[in-house]
Amino acid sequence: MSRFCLPRDIYHGKGCLEELKNLKGKKAILVVGGGSMKRQGFLDKAVSYLKEAGMQVELFEGVEPDPSVETVMKGAEAMRVFEPDWIVSMGGGSPIDAAKAMWAFYEYPEVTFDDLCKPFNFPELRQKAKFVAIPSTSGTATEVTAFSVITNYQTGVKYPLADFNITPDIAILDPELVTGLPVKQVAYTGMDALTHAIEAYVSTLNGPFTDPLALQAIEMVFDYLPASYHCNMEAREQMHYAQCLAGMAFSNALLGIVHSMAHKTGAAFSTGHIPHGCANAIYLPYVIQYNAKDKVAAKRYAEIARRMGLAGTSEKALINSLVAKIHEFNVALQIPRTLQEFGIQEDEFKEKVTNIAELAVGDACTGSNPRSITPSEMEQLLICTYYGTEVDF
Ligand code: FE
Repeated sequence: MSRFCLPRDIYHGKGCLEELKNLKGKKAILVVGGGSMKRQGFLDKAVSYLKEAGMQVELFEGVEPDPSVETVMKGAEAMRVFEPDWIVSMGGGSPIDAAKAMWAFYEYPEVTFDDLCKPFNFPELRQKAKFVAIPSTSGTATEVTAFSVITNYQTGVKYPLADFNITPDIAILDPELVTGLPVKQVAYTGMDALTHAIEAYVSTLNGPFTDPLALQAIEMVFDYLPASYHCNMEAREQMHYAQCLAGMAFSNALLGIVHSMAHKTGAAFSTGHIPHGCANAIYLPYVIQYNAKDKVAAKRYAEIARRMGLAGTSEKALINSLVAKIHEFNVALQIPRTLQEFGIQEDEFKEKVTNIAELAVGDACTGSNPRSITPSEMEQLLICTYYGTEVDF
């Protein structure tokens, strides 16, 4: 048995934030991040729409990037006191991820993070509240996914929560919220979305419900990401929808080792954090070369290339075109081709690569990758991404 789960409603289009007016309920708590929604006036708008809906509104502000266990517990406590029947989260991935976890602890104060960490083991939510997600970035697609990541800063452990219970009830995709995104973020999050769609399409859990979403998302990223990067707002609107389609695909088909590698290298080096989407963009072409040794994956990568109208008739030529196209995108978006180019020190890389490889193989995303991988193969693969060498094993 497979399950395919999405929000019941996805509102999209300029100004659709206004849909908050039509929620039916008594009390809404609005969970937001560090202040960009407030500065741009969207927070006030959301509050007044919720009031127009006849609701009492309370704010939970200041969710940090990479939200902490403490923030989640504080938010859940605020919810237990206020007793909202709607949780409305607005902002980048972080406030939405945090609000998803707050929701679980609001409804079930006795559960622990360790309980929730077991995949697909959540208690039945929606006993007290329903959930709205309003993204202000175009990449993570947390507004439609069954995932949330919470960080325990005491132990340095990230809790990846996964359960269809935390797939929001309503997603509101208002492109006006993404018009002010910095172009670097447009590039990184756009490549994150492309990675979501490609990994979902070749995942071992791909299927007839996720394939069309993944392909459509890939096509839209190819069509619109460069223009969105150059601040064409029509293209940026389309990217907001493309990343959401990619999210619908990967929430149900899961991901692969590009994400395993990005998760385990993101904070591994002393020279600074590698932004998630940037790491994915660097690794994606190398991982395609690695995975393409698997026959089923090769066929699927070739299908992607064919659908995108890339050059080649043989499977091999089509896959080469796809890899070249992704490198081309990275150049256009000013994303480095290798970890070395990114600025990771060679000595530090060599010292840490064996350990990182082992961790990456153990990442939750490795299980649905189309080709299996050993720690020593992962190490070789990481070395290829460091020096920019072809993957031929
Ligand atoms: Fe991602």
